[in-house]
Amino acid sequence: MGLQAALQVIYPPQCLSCAAPVASDFGLCADCWRETPFIAGLACDQCGIPLPGGEAGEIAQCDDCIAIARPWDRGRAALVYRDNGRRLVLALKHGDRMDLARPAAGWMLKAARPILRPGMLVVPVPLHWLRLFRRRFNQAALLSRALARGAGLDHCPDALIRQRNTGNQDGKTREARFANLADAFAVPRRRMARIEGRDILLVDDVMTSGATFAATTEALVSAGARSVNVLCLARVAKDG
Ligand SMILES: [Zn+2]
Ligand SMILES: [Zn+2]
Repeated sequence: MGLQAALQVIYPPQCLSCAAPVASDFGLCADCWRETPFIAGLACDQCGIPLPGGEAGEIAQCDDCIAIARPWDRGRAALVYRDNGRRLVLALKHGDRMDLARPAAGWMLKAARPILRPGMLVVPVPLHWLRLFRRRFNQAALLSRALARGAGLDHCPDALIRQRNTGNQDGKTREARFANLADAFAVPRRRMARIEGRDILLVDDVMTSGATFAATTEALVSAGARSVNVLCLARVAKDG
């Protein structure tokens, strides 16, 4: 018996979500897979939210992305933020389940395939340093690092800083969310040269109103980014 096989006997692969035994590493069991709202089929080209109907290859936008001017080019999401999609995001964020980052990045890469371009620079949405200090890690940066590695793209985890602590966006109206985040982000001077002229893939764990992606995109564009595309693990749907 080889070492790998021996380890499989001692530590059989488990479902990422419920720890039931599964056939291979980095997977979900059949029950959790069914409970996880992966986004397949037609999705909004700017935020990744699933849209009804549609043909393969069709480019469509959701009502929100038509109503609100998005400063970024295109966007995708791997999951809808509900059921097991929500549980996985919260486990990564609060539960110290850092092992989720790698498989989650794999799902995100699959969703991002239509918007990926060679030479993109992968950049995470930053936490304020105070929150980073309390939580010890930035879940968006865990995802962006695994994603850049998986896609063979450059990664710049400190391309953006959160200049002030913007607090919790939960319970705020859409208008309040956008107002709260205006000018909250910047590219530090020492990172300007890395951003200038680059196509950026901006990564976050969750997209709700899009206020965070809008504010971070604006900071990157001000620093001279050629284009910004966005990618999140889970997209909050209005009724979900
Ligand atoms: Zn499971
Ligand atoms: Zn949209």
